[in-house]
Amino acid sequence: MQLLNGKDVAAFHGKRIARQIQVVREKKGIDPELAIVVVGDDAPSVMYAASMKRTAESVGLNARICQEKEGVGEDELLLLIDRLNEDPAVFGILLMMPLPKSIDSQRIINRIDSSKDVDGLTDANIANLYTGREGFVPCTPQAVMAILDYYHISLSGKEVVIIGRSHVVGKPLAQLCLSRNATVTVCHSRTNDLKAVCQRADVIMAAVGKAGLVTGDMIKPGAVVIDVGINRVNGKTVGDVAFEDAALRAGAITPVPGGVGAVTTMMILENVVCGIARTDTIL
Ligand code: NAP
Repeated sequence: MQLLNGKDVAAFHGKRIARQIQVVREKKGIDPELAIVVVGDDAPSVMYAASMKRTAESVGLNARICQEKEGVGEDELLLLIDRLNEDPAVFGILLMMPLPKSIDSQRIINRIDSSKDVDGLTDANIANLYTGREGFVPCTPQAVMAILDYYHISLSGKEVVIIGRSHVVGKPLAQLCLSRNATVTVCHSRTNDLKAVCQRADVIMAAVGKAGLVTGDMIKPGAVVIDVGINRVNGKTVGDVAFEDAALRAGAITPVPGGVGAVTTMMILENVVCGIARTDTIL
């Protein structure tokens, strides 16, 4: 059984991104910046923004946290996005979700210039993904692909079963797998006999948010298991896959923590660099 170590994948990408940012700074005099917009004081969002800033700075990318108060109006937020869209130093805009309920999230997201939408959430980038055009892909599905690539795991012709159909993980993941010529089944809370569906999978990708949902007996011997889930159980972070049990059957498996989550933030930075490369031929 091979452990698919997300920390190694993140380190590999981190080194490459740091080199690219250095080239941009030295050869073009561009000092690129990532803007992270946080609304209110939702603890996970504030923590994630701070950790994102640290990761960005660790690869030499400037990061600015734009903190807005909980009661900020939609118009005020739109103005902030407009300012960031127009700021030539800003190459990526990351909006911490969820926004307060009083705000129409998709309206704010869609105001982000699609060339700075490094989390791939605008309608324009969703359309790009579904039509196979160049654009930004949400960071978590992209992290899954980065892990597969790092370990040279091909999806071509494989039966991939994705559990979860959210807009940010399951659906874009399905699209990425299709684009790699997998035969894709997407499961959800109304799927009949999840176990039987999983048992025929060459690759299982779990993105549900239910600890231990995927057990060893659901896994075809030798299958690849990618665990996207993040759950807190008795003070510990665990995935959607019952790891010990699953590791006895899987051919390769991601741990939680240290799997997909370790790569996700790096994919945002990868997208910032891709955005620079699209506007300039230096990289
Ligand atoms: P979400 O929006 O809550 O979606 C969960 C999905 O799981 C839904 O499609 C739901 O089906 C499905 N589901 C729920 N119970 C199920 C069951 N018993 N059997 C089969 N499917 C079931 O969650 P999300 O935002 O996609 O996140 C999923 C997990 O990934 C969470 O644990 C989250 O914390 C984690 N996550 C990790 C990262 C990372 O970087 N590693 C990033 C983002 C999210 P219905 O559509 O029918 O309701």
